[in-house]
Amino acid sequence: MNSEPQDAPANPALARAEEAERLAKEATPGPWYEPHICDDSHPCNCAGILSEGYASGIASVTVSNGLPVSRGGNDAPPKKEAAANARLIARARTLLPTLAADLRAALGREKQLREAMMEKITGCQYDLKIARAALEGRE
Ligand SMILES: [Zn+2]
Repeated sequence: MNSEPQDAPANPALARAEEAERLAKEATPGPWYEPHICDDSHPCNCAGILSEGYASGIASVTVSNGLPVSRGGNDAPPKKEAAANARLIARARTLLPTLAADLRAALGREKQLREAMMEKITGCQYDLKIARAALEGRE
């Protein structure tokens, strides 16, 4: 038995695209910008992701303080990994809906190609029927 909601798309990729679009629509408008922690040449190590409307309030990554949790460590990734996390979060704001749109366009092209191929196959089947009838002397 299918447990999917009635209006769920049959294509799982399309369902993921719709989820990405819904999440993007509800979130703070983009683009989002990576924090200074991502720029090794910048003297500041702030870790807050920015937008046009919020200076660092979108999200923030935490960098390891170098201590084990048992001694007051913050159980956070090292700086390089934390910076990569910040880049991913910031870039995902525009990348996700763009990928969803790219996927919709690709699925549309695939559908057009499939329909064109079906027309060709149908035409070929008709031509083969005529050729077969001619070979069998029925035409
Ligand atoms: Zn800063």
